[in-house]
Amino acid sequence: MKPVFADVDKSLCMNPLSVKKLITSKTKAIIYVGIGGNTANYLKIVKVCKEYNLRLIVDAAHMAGSRVSDRDKHVGIESDCTVFSFQSVKNCPSADSGAVCFSDGEHDKIARKMSWLGIDKTTYDRSGENKYKWKYNVEEIGYKYHGNSIMASMCLVALKYLDCDNSVRRKIADKYTKMLSHIKEIEIIQHENELTSSRHLFQISTDERDSLLDFLASHNIYCGVHYIENTQYPIYHKYENSNINLAKHYSDRLISLPLHLHMNDKDVDEVIRIISVYFGYE
Ligand SMILES: *Cc1c(COP(=O)(O)O)cnc(C)c1O
Repeated sequence: MKPVFADVDKSLCMNPLSVKKLITSKTKAIIYVGIGGNTANYLKIVKVCKEYNLRLIVDAAHMAGSRVSDRDKHVGIESDCTVFSFQSVKNCPSADSGAVCFSDGEHDKIARKMSWLGIDKTTYDRSGENKYKWKYNVEEIGYKYHGNSIMASMCLVALKYLDCDNSVRRKIADKYTKMLSHIKEIEIIQHENELTSSRHLFQISTDERDSLLDFLASHNIYCGVHYIENTQYPIYHKYENSNINLAKHYSDRLISLPLHLHMNDKDVDEVIRIISVYFGYE
């Protein structure tokens, strides 16, 4: 398969108009990334997939707990395949694991088999009924990508706290938005639904990215950058001519501000203060 890069819009999510322009008779699937937990354009992309009969794969690594439209409907139900990350740095953390969710049970079966060396029955399936059935078949050559119960047990506990943790992040994000929106050198990346976003990230865009990062670091505030656009990596250089002008624009300007559960009000105020000082607002 050959990847084709579509552009984003101001939400940093895939722009449905850019996608539509790139669809040809060879197009098979669209991969949507809900960056920072944002569901922007998600339902529009679902519609494009229906209209053109394409498969939808959702990179939901940032989206654990993100709801679409109303509070009860978790993102990903509309797609063919939704992939969550439970890495230690994500919203529903274990040490390192994830979940691949399919709408088609047959795809689920294949993925389970291929992630367990191609074996047609798990050890669990073969246990029980007071008897261990040792016979199984290896139907294809697979991988050893299966999850394990240690990670799963951490995730089951993390899941209990997910909505509560996300609401703490949303509160911090609200404060950043309120206190930074008057700084005209900064563009705040808005989430389509601030009430139901997992709020994995709070991102701003500024022409002075690198020097602001240095200034913050000199005050012991360490930010992230999510992400530079893919075609800047040597492995994707051959896609450099993709029509992704807005992705390139943000690639040079994005900063992710600190947004984690151990930040107290004073910490958030300090980040806001240092940014205000940098731009001469304080
Ligand atoms: C972390 C991350 C991934 C990878 O997650 P794994 O758990 O390593 O599979 C994929 N996409 C995005 C956007 C991420 O942030």
